Amino acid sequence: MSHAIEVRNLTKIYAMGGETVHALDGVTFSIEPGEMVAIIGSSGSGKSTLMNIIGCLDRPTSGEYHLDGQDVSRFSGNALARVRNRNIGFVFQNFNLLPRMSALENVEVPILYSGTGGAAKLARAALERVGLADRAGHEPNQLSGGQRQRVAIARALVNNPTILLADEPTGNLDTRTGREIMKLFHELHAEKVTLIIVTHDTEVAEQCSRNIVLRDGKIIEDKQIQAQMP
Ligand code: ADP
Ligand code: MG
Repeated sequence: MSHAIEVRNLTKIYAMGGETVHALDGVTFSIEPGEMVAIIGSSGSGKSTLMNIIGCLDRPTSGEYHLDGQDVSRFSGNALARVRNRNIGFVFQNFNLLPRMSALENVEVPILYSGTGGAAKLARAALERVGLADRAGHEPNQLSGGQRQRVAIARALVNNPTILLADEPTGNLDTRTGREIMKLFHELHAEKVTLIIVTHDTEVAEQCSRNIVLRDGKIIEDKQIQAQMP
């Protein structure tokens, strides 16, 4: 069967002067379409490195990465960018919105890159999907943290990716706002989007149906759990 994501023996070695850091050290797992997975581990354990590889922002030093049955681990930068634009949405802790652009314009950015056209219409639909249609004209500094993160999620969704990657998406939000974001993720899960969420928050991890724990670039635990619905 075709896995959404299959990584085999992934390593990532950073060379820093004379030192080398094994950020990932033989990571193997697969994720099926529509799974909702939390990646957990202390700071420096390799979570962001793993997300960057899964998200086709970076390549492993060695190992294989199959995305929808295609081995993308040796793709060139351009080919990787195409795969990324077509398949993957990203959400970050700091939202990464462009400050002098409206919510709508921020959400349009990935469409302008992919060149599909109809940006405004698609962006408006994505803002509607996250419940922010009425804030389309607001700039990020006119929005609350939770609203900014919803704009970022709309931007991640605008190309209709099958996979959404979120690196500490609730890390800068208060508990209540974090729960709103998780509610939105559950809605996307119900729509069969594959969700991979890096988190330090046990409440977030408990709402996922699988927890993968990293330590020093290795998986030390990978377990299915009974997801606690909010
Ligand atoms: P986490 O997201 O779990 O905090 P990271 O994936 O960011 O961990 O980092 C894993 C290890 O790789 C850390 O030791 C970090 O210092 C190192 N690292 C990450 N990115 C780089 C880089 N660009 N250059 C050198 N070392 C890096
Ligand atoms: Mg990180």
